[in-house]
Amino acid sequence: MRRDRRRAANSNLRTPVQVNQCPKCKEPVLPHRACAACGYYKNREVIAVES
Ligand SMILES: [Zn+2]
Repeated sequence: MRRDRRRAANSNLRTPVQVNQCPKCKEPVLPHRACAACGYYKNREVIAVES
């Protein structure tokens, strides 16, 4: 059976996870994700982080 060979959940096993660095707090952040530590993304705060 050569069917059902779609891109599966293992696609992220082949390529290493890319991690960017937050320009503000230098925490590792996933691309296209706001920084979980300070809420910074694309040079502005997109998440209100209580401190
Ligand atoms: Zn940050």
